[in-house]
Amino acid sequence: MKSIFVALSVLAYLLFAVVVEAAPDYYSILGINKRANEKEIKTAYRQLSKQYHPDKNSSPEAHDKFVEVGEAYEVLSNKEKRANYDKYGDPEGPQHHGGPGDFFNNMFGGHHGGQHGGQQRGDNSQLNLNLALSDFFQGKDMDFEVEMVNICTDCTGSGSSDGKKIKCKNCNGGGVVMIRRQLAPGFVQTFQSQCDQCQGKGSIVANPCKVCSGSGAKRGKRKYDVHIPAGFPRDGVQTMEGEGDAYPDIIPGDLHIVFKEDLSRSWGYRRVGNNLYRDEVLTAKEALGGGWERHIPYFDEIETEIKLSRNAQQMVRDGEIEVVQGKGMPFHNADGLDDDKHGDLFIQYKIVIPGGSKEAAGHVMRDEL
Ligand SMILES: [Zn+2]
Ligand SMILES: [Zn+2]
Repeated sequence: MKSIFVALSVLAYLLFAVVVEAAPDYYSILGINKRANEKEIKTAYRQLSKQYHPDKNSSPEAHDKFVEVGEAYEVLSNKEKRANYDKYGDPEGPQHHGGPGDFFNNMFGGHHGGQHGGQQRGDNSQLNLNLALSDFFQGKDMDFEVEMVNICTDCTGSGSSDGKKIKCKNCNGGGVVMIRRQLAPGFVQTFQSQCDQCQGKGSIVANPCKVCSGSGAKRGKRKYDVHIPAGFPRDGVQTMEGEGDAYPDIIPGDLHIVFKEDLSRSWGYRRVGNNLYRDEVLTAKEALGGGWERHIPYFDEIETEIKLSRNAQQMVRDGEIEVVQGKGMPFHNADGLDDDKHGDLFIQYKIVIPGGSKEAAGHVMRDEL
């Protein structure tokens, strides 16, 4: 029985190990070791992205490599993501919050704050906002309401309906109680402890506030308006200092607003850093004969589409990549000022024939050649 159990745990461990190993090794993708500093990461990324850039190397393998290198850099160049990746094998951390669909989803407590000048600091809170890729592209002003714990406005946090206090009976007003504990027969330890009836204050509220049931705090809506500039990074964070949940006698923590990309509203684009990627499907007839035109939706408020086309007889290979320069994401400026710098857009053509596979399409093309 015992050996079966051991065998099962070994199996479970192996399965787990396989799952962990299945995550991409961003360090080996960039050809660096785990202790690489920021500069080494940047240098490796620059070299590799140059090497695999579709302008220089148009093979589909190079395209995949180029995307992979971009993803590895996006994770390792971000302190928080890198730490999560090192610790949990996942840049997003040990747990995933929310999914696509709703504008904002769940909130949860962050890490515990330390003591601040003797006064306790509350937990940080995190709010995830889901935005479409077009919002990241154009920048966005957002007004929203979120439910947080607030100081009760009726009793201004005192928990009392009339300000009257009475002496705590449990500690007789001293705020502390003596506790006797028998550790062994004949050996009793006595120690002082804060009174839990009055939290050491010595007095209690005579008539509790009806709005907050005497706690001094109550959940309620808060309104915020935030702005993200054009090109704001996916999973970028804005910190609202002191806007965490508020309770009496604590310094509230911060509210972290995380801007997530709702991947169901990306119009077929994939964003890696400042570049955009997109697959475009052509029929075998279009690929071989040319003479086609496509208008793909684009995020710019004025230039709402991008034209792709080939003249008659202009052939497109399966997997061919077209670079549309300057049509990627705008570069994000920390100062929030928009300028005209953009990344590039990479279109990869996929050729399909009705009732056939991609291999078949390849054969047709080779026969025609
Ligand atoms: Zn007491
Ligand atoms: Zn109250």
